[in-house]
Amino acid sequence: MSERVAVLGAGTMGHGIAQVAAQSGFETILFDVTEDLAGRGAERVLANLEAGVKRGKVTPEARDATLSRLTTSHDLAAAVAGCALVVEAAPERIDVKRQIFETISAAAPDTAILATNTSSLSVTEIAACAKGPERVVGMHFFNPPYVLKLLEIVRAQQTSDATVEKVRAIGERLGREMIVVSDSPGFATSRLGLVIGLEAMRMLQEGVGSVLDIDRAMELGYRHPMGPLALTDLVGLDVRLDIAEYLHRELGGEQFRAPTILRKLVRAGKLGRKTGEGFYRWDASGVREPAL
Ligand code: NAD
Repeated sequence: MSERVAVLGAGTMGHGIAQVAAQSGFETILFDVTEDLAGRGAERVLANLEAGVKRGKVTPEARDATLSRLTTSHDLAAAVAGCALVVEAAPERIDVKRQIFETISAAAPDTAILATNTSSLSVTEIAACAKGPERVVGMHFFNPPYVLKLLEIVRAQQTSDATVEKVRAIGERLGREMIVVSDSPGFATSRLGLVIGLEAMRMLQEGVGSVLDIDRAMELGYRHPMGPLALTDLVGLDVRLDIAEYLHRELGGEQFRAPTILRKLVRAGKLGRKTGEGFYRWDASGVREPAL
């Protein structure tokens, strides 16, 4: 199997997935729609590795070797040519993902695994527009991928057993702990995690507690490493809103209805850590204080 991996989308997740792939020995191409965006993703990888060196978690040699395996591209067909694995981490929009899979299934080798990092959308619908849909699969990484080891493998209707086995083998190399679930809106992780996040927002709206108190309830009472509002900031409020709207449409149920406060913050461009403000105000080093 070729050792090349292409990661499509160099945002919150894409840069982290590319980092993990390059650290695990794969020649990694990080694609975004402009060279500037792809370059910014690579700069984030560099910053993470530098921080790792400072904390003694990454050796300077490992940093250099990782960087030597990472390149950027804004030419989609060239990025996926010769790849064993393509991981798409573009915005959570079905039309965007369908378009990407149509293109890459023609441009990547016929043997390449085509994976989507979608948090909620139908992998079956994405696979339907690909040439060779049996090689399409969900590879759902968690934020940030260099810290959280879970890989949720999502089996579409069309995904073959051979594809799942290949993904398991790649997952081992990427140092992942894996679960395999069938394709259903939000899979296992987002469906459960989203409900807690949305309910925390409704509680904030109703004045049940402050941002800090609601987050501390889950951190200290239930040993969640991060409360649901801080986690929403980390995920991105726009990403969570997209997922909520999709799950509400697909599964029904008031628990998936997006709260007003989420819509208002997204409209105001307060998308969480990536814009510096959401439920918290974030500084560049990741220190936060409540913004509401
Ligand atoms: P993001 O907005 O941070 O990054 C998306 C990137 O995709 C941007 O850099 C954008 O320029 C790029 N892009 C736009 N159009 C594209 C195209 N046609 N082809 C390739 N790239 C394109 O989003 P994100 O948070 O990294 O989310 C990406 C995917 O990962 C989504 O499907 C999301 O649901 C999923 N996901 C997100 C998280 C999270 O915590 N944010 C966790 C797990 C999975």
